Amino acid sequence: MAPPIKYTKLFIDNEWVDAKSGNTFETFNPHDGSVIAKVSRGGKEDIDSAVSAAKYAFHRNSEWRLFDASKRGQILNKFADLMERDIEYLAELESYNNGMILQMAKGVVSRGLASIRYVASLADKIQEDTIPADGDVFSYTLKQPVGVCGLILPWNAPILMFLNKVCTALAAGCTVVVKPPEQTPLTALVLEALLKEAGIPKGVVNIVTGFGEDAGVALTHHPDVAKISFTGSLEVGKLIQKAAGTNNLKRVTLELGGKSPLVIMNDADCIFTIYNLTKYERRPEIHSLTIDRLDVEEVMMNKVLGYIEKGKQEGAKLQTGGKRVGTTGYYIEPTVFSDVTDDMTIAKEEIFGPVQRILKFDTLEEVVDRANATNYGLAAGIFTSDINTALQYSKLVEAVQCLVRFYFKYNPHVMFIVGPRSKIQTLFSWDC
Ligand code: NAD
Repeated sequence: MAPPIKYTKLFIDNEWVDAKSGNTFETFNPHDGSVIAKVSRGGKEDIDSAVSAAKYAFHRNSEWRLFDASKRGQILNKFADLMERDIEYLAELESYNNGMILQMAKGVVSRGLASIRYVASLADKIQEDTIPADGDVFSYTLKQPVGVCGLILPWNAPILMFLNKVCTALAAGCTVVVKPPEQTPLTALVLEALLKEAGIPKGVVNIVTGFGEDAGVALTHHPDVAKISFTGSLEVGKLIQKAAGTNNLKRVTLELGGKSPLVIMNDADCIFTIYNLTKYERRPEIHSLTIDRLDVEEVMMNKVLGYIEKGKQEGAKLQTGGKRVGTTGYYIEPTVFSDVTDDMTIAKEEIFGPVQRILKFDTLEEVVDRANATNYGLAAGIFTSDINTALQYSKLVEAVQCLVRFYFKYNPHVMFIVGPRSKIQTLFSWDC
């Protein structure tokens, strides 16, 4: 049975409101392409109202600014309790609107809960330094919330993205305006209702559903927004960086696309791949793997099918999959290409769909050079039973995060977003 849709309006200054234009847009069920609901389509005027509410809520004497840091943590914990109460509904709604299978959606909500609890515990542990400056002075750093944050989310994991961005901003004492993805806006609205129930003061969290071209652009150009946190495509990330530089030089955190090299050495004794629900023992044959379907919505589905065609045209060998699943809904078979070479489009460009490419290499040095020949740098991974090989690869590969002997594991204690090339995080799981 379809989960009930409770919220479809914008949330500004503690009220559910229609877009000022009265416009709405349809959101779909990727399982069968049917319309789930009409959602308010916010634009510049609505962003202006939301930012104004968030700015007021950040005023030096506001209820929010006068909260003890520990109280911010308590509210986040209360929010987590409410999410636990409604976990089944949240997972069902995420699956319904986003297309991810229910089991995965439940996993996503659980991970989100772990994130909130961790971030809540940090709210009253933001500490400052003293600086031993020369002379008769007392110097110290003072860490303060940056102000109004614009948080822009992608479609593929809406709950997790919402929680990671919103809860960290709230723990730090900021106020926020969230722009959920136009394809999957529904769970963000439910989370907003839970934040309200948890006791977040008026104006601290605002949500403007809508499209990137109007609501997103208005948010990134707004002079009263102090920071933008964006997860999405490289192309839009470039626009956001540019927008931030055109008026108030707002701070920007970008978490963008990837073409993440996963190296499998001869001595690998276990493999998890992009098909993250499956575990394989001891050098399996790819065609014998049992793989769950991954989701895409229609435009994305056609884009991924286009890449699959390109792979075939350019001479890669299709080992399995390659087609749409059925005729309704937006699913593609898990697809694996072998005999892929570095110059092929499917080897160079982000596909963002269930298409695995297999390329051969001879030495670790060679594969590192080839892996680093990319404009991305989001993540990398290696499967090996030799710890020296793992350490060497982790050091040399140019990626923000390097995963060893597993993929797709989530750990709230290891923050994913760090500056490009500033640090490679290596997470070991020797007992896989
Ligand atoms: P997208 O860049 O098309 O859209 C992301 C968000 O930006 C949406 O809310 C959209 O409305 C908004 N937007 C679009 N144009 C805008 C503009 N000009 N100004 C401001 N906002 C704008 O990405 P998507 O299709 O939703 O998500 C897929 C992409 O996200 C892939 O490239 C994927 O790799 C990336 N992604 C990365 C991670 C990560 O962990 N680094 C996680 C999820 C998704």
